[in-house]
Amino acid sequence: MSLKLIKHVGIVGTIECLTGLRIGGAKDDIEIGGMDNPIIRDPRTRMPYIPGSSLKGKLRSALEYRYCGAKIARGEPCGCAEPDCVVCRLFGPHRKPHHGLGPTRVLVRDARMDSAGGDPDQWIEIKTENMIDRRTGVATNPRPVERVVPGTKFSFEISVRIFDGDDVKKLVDTVKEGLRLIEAEYLGASGSRGYGKVRFDYTVLDPFLGRVPDPTAQA
Ligand SMILES: [Zn+2]
Repeated sequence: MSLKLIKHVGIVGTIECLTGLRIGGAKDDIEIGGMDNPIIRDPRTRMPYIPGSSLKGKLRSALEYRYCGAKIARGEPCGCAEPDCVVCRLFGPHRKPHHGLGPTRVLVRDARMDSAGGDPDQWIEIKTENMIDRRTGVATNPRPVERVVPGTKFSFEISVRIFDGDDVKKLVDTVKEGLRLIEAEYLGASGSRGYGKVRFDYTVLDPFLGRVPDPTAQA
């Protein structure tokens, strides 16, 4: 394939939390006596956000179950590097520095809160998770966990790089399908227990002339 960059296609919109969302942060940056299970926050504003790596990772794994199930039996990300593997083409083959697919196509930005401002803690709830003792039926070790409250919206932005010879429709449709799969599943932690149900509302900008340069523009 040619490495001539043709354009970027943007997938831009909002992520709405329909249930509490938990994307874990580091305990290290909180004070002693603070929350044991904090969510990730912007260190400057203390506002919760969704790291691009979290959304990208979930997008990739959802699409791998769909398209690479037979190849990822060992639980590793797909590294087949086959020309028709849409996951390897979009995200790059796992642990394969030498391949013919060209650069990673999908760039996922950090998703910041739409309604930023005010007290960051108004967007956060503390849920207590109980472990049930199987023999006695009694809850033990209640564990407080931070979550972003339902109704919170984040702005997200995905940029898909299109190189000469790429099937634009296939690449973009696959990313859109990945977003639908996340809606059917969850984002963040503890999805099987009801966390992380989200809805994506977006527009596709083709070409994407937002905050990335238009590669077709005259210098
Ligand atoms: Zn693959």
